[in-house]
This record gives sequence, structure tokens and C-alpha cells, in this order.
Amino acid sequence: MRLLDDILAARPQIEGIRRDLHAHPELRFAEHRTSDLVASQLAGWGIEVHRGLGGTGVVGLIDGTLAPAAGAVRAIGLRADMDALPIQELNAFAHRSTHPGRMHACGHDGHTAMLLAAAQHLARHREFAGRVVLIFQPAEEAGAGAQRMIDDGLFERFDCDAVFAIHNWPGLAVGELGVASGPAMASTSEFHIRVEGRGAHAAMPNLGVDPVYVAIQIAQGLQGLITRVKRPIDSAVLSITMIHAGDATNVIPDGATLAGTVRTFDEGVTALIEAGLRRVAQGTAQAHQASAEVRFERHYPPTVNHAREARIAAAVGDAVLGPGKVIRDIDPTMGAEDFAFMLQQRPGAYLFLGNGTAAGEHRAAGHGAGPCTLHNASYDFNDELIPIGASYWVHLVEHYLGTRPA
Ligand SMILES: [Zn+2]
Ligand SMILES: [Zn+2]
Repeated sequence: MRLLDDILAARPQIEGIRRDLHAHPELRFAEHRTSDLVASQLAGWGIEVHRGLGGTGVVGLIDGTLAPAAGAVRAIGLRADMDALPIQELNAFAHRSTHPGRMHACGHDGHTAMLLAAAQHLARHREFAGRVVLIFQPAEEAGAGAQRMIDDGLFERFDCDAVFAIHNWPGLAVGELGVASGPAMASTSEFHIRVEGRGAHAAMPNLGVDPVYVAIQIAQGLQGLITRVKRPIDSAVLSITMIHAGDATNVIPDGATLAGTVRTFDEGVTALIEAGLRRVAQGTAQAHQASAEVRFERHYPPTVNHAREARIAAAVGDAVLGPGKVIRDIDPTMGAEDFAFMLQQRPGAYLFLGNGTAAGEHRAAGHGAGPCTLHNASYDFNDELIPIGASYWVHLVEHYLGTRPA
């Protein structure tokens, strides 16, 4: 691996910051301490800092000292997320969360640390032509903080020709990089279906309209949308995760509620499923003399990498990590990610950096009994990734912006 010497030398310092962030996790849009820490570190390294985008978001600007090649000055955006999750940490090591019920269980403490380490290096070695826009965003976890920063003028104020983000990835070996071309993560939508029937004595169903029976017919029908309505080659999953009705074994209730999630890699597929879901719910209810009210909410769009930027990211991975370490066309996952909103605005790519196996060989004594996987109470970010991710960021910047004077 081509890791940069001064980044390796700074690892203890940055690891200290990472563990400090881990010990002080903050939930979406409340990343005040984290935001202060990021801003003061950047400023201390002589980096121009802008605050307040998306509430707690921080933007740092590093201008290169080389004259750009013919044409406009180019800029590359590098994004790290800063928020934690509402999870009670089960690890007992020294840097465990000091905030009850909150935990960095997705490694955003590590993403922030990797980008800080890269920023420190880039501020000292400005041998590139163009601008680096460091984007530290709030509220990736179900808060759409990326969209909030965009709404606050992120790309109007700090234009970027391309944007990139890295997520640590348990299950990939340390030193491996996964780069999907096309979809990397799914869209998320949620639905709620309220079936209204008419309550009755359980022994006399003919005197009412049984909403439980109707809800079960709807639940069966919805899976047909996945197998019969969309093209078989288009991926999608529909999971009903909540069914609520009734309070007694001998009473048919008045209503029943179904709710769940739909995930796809294509907004057109989501639209097909939404229309079908309304049709099946309302048509099925009507067939049984009940009624159904449907609420369908779209959350994150699919995270779709742009082909050119994915190629660039993979090539830089080859150069930094060595041969055979970049997994091109890695399978996308049905998880979701709000970097999708940034990729709707600018070309770019979302990358998976190996965090080691789920066994978590890197974890210190005192870790929880559960697997070292994302959103698990026994997870911890692997600090080995700090010099790898930071060196990768620097090489990506230099490759993308160019290091030779015009
Ligand atoms: Zn997460
Ligand atoms: Zn995450």
C-alpha cells in the first residue's frame, strides 16, 4: 500500500480524535461538539472554514498552489458524515460512548477522522491545481443531512466538479475497496395502509366487515407486485414489518394497519410499486366492502455512482492499495445512504473501504459479544483505516485535480 509518511506519523493524533468522537456520539442535527471539533481542527491547520450549512455542517476549502491547466479551475468534493445512532453501546473499552443510548455504530467517527487526516496533509502539501471542498455533513442516519446542506447552497457556494464519499465496510478485508458502477445502495420508501372495516362479534362475522381478513389479503397481494409487476431484472424488496389490529380474541375490530418498507435501485421501479400498492390495497379492500387509506413516503433515492468517476476511483484504488485490492462492480446493497442526494447534483462515486471481518479482529479487549457489523451495539470502527482512507483521499485529489503545473 502506498500510505503517506506524514499521515502515518499523524495517526496517533488522528486516532485520538477518532476515539474522542466515539466517546462523545451525537445524534442527527445535534452534532454540536463534533462540528466545533472539526471546525477548530481545520482552522488550526490553516484551512478556510464555513459553518452552518444543514445546521451543524462544516465545509473546509483548500486551494492548490499550481496553476490549473487550460480551462476553469476544477474542484473536488470529499464528504464525511458525522452523526451517531440511538443505540446503547455494549463495548466496554476505554473509548466507549459516554452518552447513554447513543453510539457511533456506523463508523461516522472514523469517516470524520479519515477526512481530517487527509485535510491536514493537503493543507501542508498544496501541490495540486484546483480546490478541495471538504464536506462534513450532519444527519446521514434518517435525517437527509446531505439534502439540508444542498438546500443551504452547498454547491452554489462551493461548486464541485465531482463528489466522492467513503463508507467503512465490515465484511471486506482491510486494504480492499469496493466500487460499484451504477447503483451502490438502494432507495428507501415507507408505506402505511389503514384498512377500515366494521367491528362485530367474532362469532358473527357476517354482521360486520372484518379488517383483519382484508389486511391479510392485501399483505399477500403486495408480494405479487415484486414478482408480477416490475421487470424481473429490476431489483426490489417489499417488507411488511408491522401489522396491528384488535385487542380481544372474540371481537372483530373496526380497523387494521399494515406498514413496511420498499427498496429499489431505480425511481421508476419505486413509482410502479407505489401505484401497484395503492391499487392492491384499495381494490382488495373494496372487493370485501372495506376501505383502505394508503400513505407512501419516499425517503432516500438510490445511490447511483457515475461511470466515469467510479472508474477514476477504482484506478486510484489500484495505485494506492496495490493490485487485486479493488473490487469493481461490487454488489450493491439494499441499505440506503443520503449521499444519493449529492450524486443527483454532481457526478461522483460512493466507495466501500474494508473494515475487516464481522468477527472484528481489530477490536480491543472489552468489546461487546455481538458481531462487528454496522448498526450493531458491539461494532467499532477499525483505526487501521485512518491512514488507508486518508492516503486514498489525498491520491484521489492529486489524480483528479492534477499535480503538474500547466
Ligand atoms: Zn448507518
Ligand atoms: Zn453510515
